[in-house]
Amino acid sequence: MRSVPQLPNADILPQIPVPLLKWYHSHARLLPWREKPSPYRVWISEIMLQQTRVAAVMPYFERFLEALPDVSALAACEDDHLMKLWQGLGYYNRARNLKKAAQVIMDQHAGRIPDDFDVLLSLPGIGRYTAAAISSIAYGHPHPAVDGNVLRVITRLTLYAEDILRESTKRTVEMSLRAIYPPHAGGDMNQALMELGATVCLPNGLPHCARCPLQLLCLAFENSCTGQFPQKQPPKKRRIEKLTILLIEQDGNFALQKRPDQGLLASLWEFPHWEGTMKKDELLFWCRQENLHAKQINKLPASRHIFTHLEWHMCGWHIRLQSCDNFQIQETAASDTSFLTSACWASPQEIAQNYSIPSAFQTYLSLLPSLCNTVDTSQGK
Ligand code: SF4
Repeated sequence: MRSVPQLPNADILPQIPVPLLKWYHSHARLLPWREKPSPYRVWISEIMLQQTRVAAVMPYFERFLEALPDVSALAACEDDHLMKLWQGLGYYNRARNLKKAAQVIMDQHAGRIPDDFDVLLSLPGIGRYTAAAISSIAYGHPHPAVDGNVLRVITRLTLYAEDILRESTKRTVEMSLRAIYPPHAGGDMNQALMELGATVCLPNGLPHCARCPLQLLCLAFENSCTGQFPQKQPPKKRRIEKLTILLIEQDGNFALQKRPDQGLLASLWEFPHWEGTMKKDELLFWCRQENLHAKQINKLPASRHIFTHLEWHMCGWHIRLQSCDNFQIQETAASDTSFLTSACWASPQEIAQNYSIPSAFQTYLSLLPSLCNTVDTSQGK
């Protein structure tokens, strides 16, 4: 087993708590989850904040808490409703794991979110960082919660030059902080370090050192090398996938289908799509094959969506089908086509209210109301 490396210049760390906590108590942002930090509120906020900015989480947090105010409501929530509440936050497995963990908490912990770090760690979707955040912020235990913000601050303070993406680097920082956390201020220490990283010790070589309560201790500041920390491997190049998104409309309703229950964006709703870039003649050929009676086809704007390891480069088409008066789509679908047997149909309003569509499709989702109002150029022909 590899040993955990030592933090250099660790003698700086015991000098951190006093100025850091003093600064935090006068500079902390007012955030909704910091008011009444119950274990449930802390848990939900920490999961929402994973890979998502504070500003993006704010509108979702209160809405989620209003709909699902406690662990039992979360455990009993219908999957589609849960996905709808999460729509726009991305990384939907976080929501699925929240529900799984809530069910474990109901079954095995009488509905009480555990305070023990190791028990928290055993719950679905809870890693070391989240377990430490709940255990410290909600229950006051001195577990360091080491995220990217904390790593940036500590590596700059101590000139720690290991790759911060390595697990051993996080463990070193965690263990070193554990030794200096005041026994009853674990939550404030974690939040203060995160706050400093998020608002003062900014990434990409742009820290506001003049405003930093730890400037006198900071070796990166002293040596004018803040831009060299933290160190991390450059990210791998993302794979690019080209897709053609089809907004297939009939009488103001659009075709939707559910994604597979495993893999990327599992079990969410989406517009039918093709892999690759589809030209109009290919589209017409496909419509004929699928027995779709298109009376109008218009090109839509291109769009991109970036996932962690993948980019979707999308083009889109609006296909208006003949009216149901002339063409009974459901009957035709059930007997004749493979595509339509898996599709369901909904108006833009129903889609907004009832279907969780990933933000990857936002460009096309936002077009639906206006597409319904476009003039039918085939009329009278
Ligand atoms: Fe970060 Fe600058 Fe503060 Fe050092 S002095 S911890 S680099 S903000």
